[in-house]
Parts: sequence; C-alpha cells; structure tokens
Amino acid sequence: MAFSEQFDVVVVGAGHAGCEAAVAAARMGLKTALFTLSVELIAQMSCNPAVGGIAKGHLVREIDALGGVMGEVTDAVGIQFRLLNTSRGPAVWSPRAQCDKAQYRVKMREVLAREPLLTVKEAEVADVLLESSDCSLQSSGGERQAEDRSLKTEDLRRARRAVGIKLRDGREIGARAVIITTGTFLNGLIHCGEQTHPAGRSGEPPSQLLGEALKLLGLRGTRLKTGTPPRLDGRTIDWSRFTAQPGDAEPTPFSFRTKTIKQRQVPCYIAFTSEETHRVIRENVHRSPMYSGQIKSIGPRYCPSIEDKIVKFPDKTTHQLFLEPEGLNTDEVYVNGMSTSLPVEVQLAMIASVPGLETAKMLRPGYAIEYDAIDPTELERTLETKKIAGLYLAGQINGTSGYEEAGAQGIMAGINAALKLKGEAPLVLDRTEAYIAILIDDLISKGTNEPYRMFTSRAEFRLHLRIDNADRRLTPHGRRVGMIADADWAEFQAKQERVRRMAAVLGKAKRTGDGGRWPEAAGQTFAQLLKRPEVSIELLRRELERAYPEFFARPAEDAAVNAAVIRNELKSVETEIKYAGYLAQQERAIERLKKSEQRTIPEWFEYATVSGLSREMKEKLAHVRPRTLGQASRIPGVTPAAVSLVNVFIEIQRKRLAISS
Ligand SMILES: Cc1cc2nc3c(=O)[nH]c(=O)nc-3n(C[C@H](O)[C@H](O)[C@H](O)COP(=O)(O)OP(=O)(O)OC[C@H]3O[C@@H](n4cnc5c(N)ncnc54)[C@H](O)[C@@H]3O)c2cc1C
Repeated sequence: MAFSEQFDVVVVGAGHAGCEAAVAAARMGLKTALFTLSVELIAQMSCNPAVGGIAKGHLVREIDALGGVMGEVTDAVGIQFRLLNTSRGPAVWSPRAQCDKAQYRVKMREVLAREPLLTVKEAEVADVLLESSDCSLQSSGGERQAEDRSLKTEDLRRARRAVGIKLRDGREIGARAVIITTGTFLNGLIHCGEQTHPAGRSGEPPSQLLGEALKLLGLRGTRLKTGTPPRLDGRTIDWSRFTAQPGDAEPTPFSFRTKTIKQRQVPCYIAFTSEETHRVIRENVHRSPMYSGQIKSIGPRYCPSIEDKIVKFPDKTTHQLFLEPEGLNTDEVYVNGMSTSLPVEVQLAMIASVPGLETAKMLRPGYAIEYDAIDPTELERTLETKKIAGLYLAGQINGTSGYEEAGAQGIMAGINAALKLKGEAPLVLDRTEAYIAILIDDLISKGTNEPYRMFTSRAEFRLHLRIDNADRRLTPHGRRVGMIADADWAEFQAKQERVRRMAAVLGKAKRTGDGGRWPEAAGQTFAQLLKRPEVSIELLRRELERAYPEFFARPAEDAAVNAAVIRNELKSVETEIKYAGYLAQQERAIERLKKSEQRTIPEWFEYATVSGLSREMKEKLAHVRPRTLGQASRIPGVTPAAVSLVNVFIEIQRKRLAISS
C-alpha cells in the first residue's frame, strides 16, 4: 500500500494529550507526526486559563517528573502561582497557576519545534486505516466485529492492526502506531439556550468523519458533556468592587527543571452572585439545555453549571465567583464558577446582576458541548485498544475532563506506543506509585459514566504520592525509557543526594547550645525535635543553614523560585521524618497491594467456566478482562470472594490446558 508519507507514530490532535504524546514518542527516537485542525490553536485552553489545583497539580508534577512538558510550559507563561492547601497536610499541597492562554499556545509550539523527530501538520484526520490478519487494508468501515464477545481480545487484536490514517483531503499517511487525542471534537455539538450548532469548541469545526469512523471500529462509545462560562471585557468591569486574590510572593514552579519565573504576576478577583442573579436563573432554568432535556448526556459533577448550583442548593443566597485574567495582553476575563448554557440574553441579565459587573460587557457567552467519547474499559493499561493493535487513545476521548488528566494520558500513550515499537517492555505504573496510574487504572477497570476528574481522595496512599516526591517516584522511569536528558538526570541525582544528606544531618546532628526555644530538647537531634507537632523545619532553618550550608547554596538565577524550591525540599524531608511511622505502615500495605497486582490473569482465562461465579460477575469480568487480580478487585461490583474464586480457577484452567495440549 503506497502511503503519501510514512511515520512511526502519528498523533491525531494537538491538544493537551496530543502534545505530550507527540513529544514523548519523538524524544524516544520515533519519527512522529502530529496532525491537528489548526496549528494556531495547538494546546488551546478550551476552558479555564489555569493549570493545576487539587490533585491536578500532582498530575502535572508527575508528567514533569517523567520528562513531559506541561509543567515547563506553565512555568514559562504562568501569570499567577499559588500553592494550595498549605494549611493542611503535605499530601494535599498542590500547585495551581493562572496562565496567559495565548502565550501557552506559543510556548507549546516552541517546545514541539525543539523535537527534531517531530513534524506538526495542519489537516483533518477522517479515518484510521487498519490491516486485518489477511493483510487486506481496510478503512474503519470494512468490518463489523464489535459486539462479538466470543472472540477473545487477542483474536480480535490479531485480526486488526492500525497502519495509518486517512485525511479529509484523501491522502493516506502510514504509521506503525496511531494515537487519537481529539478531545471534545468527536461529533461535538454546542448548546447555548435553545441554539445548537456542530463544533469541537467555540469557533472550531467538529470532527464528524473521524467520529463516525471510530464508531465503525466497534469500540464501545459514550456521549458526555462539559460546559464553560462567559468571558467578559475587563475594561468594562469596576474592579474596585472586588477583593483581589494575589498569587504567592515566591511562586512554586510546576517543573523540577524550572529555575526562574520572571513574567509579570497579576491577581484574580473574588465576586459573588446576588439574590437577583439567583432569581434570573430560577426564572429561566427551564430554558437551560440541561433542564429542558435538550442535553441528555452527563456533565462533570465537580464542575457544576451555575444553573445546577441554584437548583441543587436553593437555600444558598450567594455563590462565589473568581474573575480570572486570560492573559497579560488581553482584556478578556474568565468568570470561574459561572459555567452555563442558558440563552445569551439570560446570561447578560445574570452578569449584570452580579455586584460590580453591572456595566460589564460580555465578549463570549458560556455554552455547553456534547461530544463522543470511548468507553475506557476498551483499553489496556498502556492505553492501547484491546481490539486494534497499534491504536492508542488519550485525553478527553477516554472520558476524562481537564488539561492535566489529558496530559497524563498523553505522555503514557506516547511512551508506550514508542516502547512497543522498540520492542521494549511497557511502562505500567501502579497505584502505589502515581496519580497517573490511579487515573488509568480507574478508567480501564471501572470505566466512567461522567467526565472523570482526579482527586487526592482517589488515592489509597496519598501521603506517598505528594507533589514534592514526584521526581523520586517517577524520574527513574522517565530515564529508563529515554525521556530524561543527561543534564536533567544529573540534576535529579544531585537533588536526591542533597535531600538524602539533609535527612542524615537532621537524623544525626545534635543541636548545639541551650536548645533555644526548646531548652528541654537541648542536645537532641533535629529529627527528634521535628517529631514535635508544634515544630516545623522552617523554625529550624537558621540552625540548619549553619549545620549544612551547601544545601541552601543555589544558582542565583531567581531568588524567589530558589526560596520556593528550597522550602519544598525541606518540606519533603520534614514529611518523611514527621510521618515516618505512618509512611512505614503504608509501606506494608503497599507491599500487600503489590502482591495482588503481581498475580496476573492469563489472557486465555475463561470466566464462563468458573463455577460459583454469578452470571453478573462473569459478565463484568469478561467485559473488562482485567490483567491482574488487583485490577479485578477494583471493578465495581466484583467481590473479594469472586476474586479468590478466579485465583483458584487460574490454576485449575492452567492444569486443564497443560493436560489438553
Ligand atoms: C467548552 C469546554 C468546557 C470545558 N470545561 C472544562 C472544565 O470545566 N474543567 C476541566 O477540567 N476541563 C474542561 N474542559 C476540558 C478541557 O478542555 C479538556 O479536558 C482538555 O482540553 C482535553 O484535552 P485533550 O488533549 O483531550 O483535547 P483538546 O484539548 O480538546 O484537543 C483536541 C485536539 O484535537 C484536534 N482534533 C480534533 N479532531 C481532529 C481531527 N479529526 N483531525 C485532526 N485534529 C483533530 C483539535 O484541533 C484539538 O487540537 C472543557 C472543554 C471545553 C471544550
């Protein structure tokens, strides 16, 4: 088959998932092409101009630790940085940054252009080209095998392999792996009041051809919804009426490689809805597509529309809003907390009813968008589809919501597509190692019937999965697969050595003098003193600067960033000391979990023949085909009893197979 061009890896869609996937595959030595509808809108922030926040900040740190780019780009264009939850335990400390949207796109294009093996192309992908076992080339419409459950995954997979893509203009591009990251574009439909129009997001066409083509591949699909708030003209807002919320004086960078943050920092502003706002919404909620029945698909529970808030919390007299700047060179303001799909004229009345926004002009109305997504239980832990070899899916297409969740899937799909083509073992992280692993495991084991958002509460061992130790947990993996450059690896090792020495100093060095504020602790080690709840490592800083001055000596590029980096490294050491007992206890639980994860379930395993297993259990397990007992135990509704039955029958079937072969 003559393709007009041939690549190792083709990525479809240059959103937050696609950019990570493309950089990963190219950096690992694969000839990669990134196709997208508009190169000007690469890495467009469809919704809020912010990266990070609770648990999302953890994901960005983990992407960075693996060698990904979202953290670096955010640090380069962030216009406000805040470390959230610092009054609570270190497990929930999480960075968040307002970004200059336009500069985010520019910076991401620079980062993509740095990869010599990466080619970016503007074109609409209309179809995935498959090769079936008889080597006949098929476009997706060629065969229909979807619901034939008797065919095992391997048979199906052996049956078909992705070998390229077809563009809307008819060109066929060859690829040994195809990664689809098309976000909200597949059969996207925008709703604003009674108005609807096909779109991928505001002002951009939907992806209908590819949407239909993916349906013909026999992958189970779903239809989801998300929404966005209106944007206002900042020149028409009376800012004096609002409370400013500035960022941290010493910005905490997302990337472990960031040395300086020099761009101007700006505040956000806090506003509140009024009784009048609630009256306007109550009187028009029947015209909201979510309440009129126009939209039937499910939206993100954790990002409720303002209509939802008014309906679900009728007693609340006001709701907090955040007025967030979309950039340094634009007057556009994002109204966080006012996501809506009410008719335009209702939105105008809603905005005018917010104290301080009486004269504000709306630049863009809020809207909701419905789009096709794929049931993520169709995927392996590498994000390769079970039914089609060489086809990977990442991002919103898998039922998640958020730039960070998308980026996390993108880097894993890119890394694993590359590893497979290089004939190397896949990178499969487990739940005890990373939020990225929890995200993927939840999706492929449980599926999702609403846009999935990451939370720290989804982690069994969140004290282990902190932002400060993401590099210790994941950078060695990034290095193994070829994502971490020598200089960055050397810096990582130097930091680990620095932190290890600080822990040694704290554990061994006895405090000199009269004990200062803690005379009764004179002569104790720093670590013994740190065990006291009222003592923080920051309080011991002066003494530590004398005990281990090299730890505090950093390159003089950016004092503010240095201060934040040193504070985070000290916090990391402090946490290991203060929570040592709890961490050790968790360590034991982690070992137990790892054991069940190691118990793999063979691909040929027959659930239908497991006597004692209910029909419902057999169906659930055959539907997901978990790879390990651990994964089986996380499928909703699968009981521990069912898991131990499967465990017993693995041996029984193995013996039967041995006898029959
Ligand atoms: C209206 C709206 C509201 C949102 N609200 C929220 C929210 O409140 N909270 C939240 O966390 N997230 C929200 N999001 C989601 C967030 O934007 C996404 O989660 C994130 O952008 C997903 O990243 P992605 O890489 O999967 O896809 P996207 O960032 O959507 O990128 C998809 C890319 O694929 C390209 N593409 C699509 N089809 C084709 C094709 N056939 N050929 C070539 N290229 C193609 C597009 O050009 C685009 O570059 C919202 C998104 C939208 C549109």
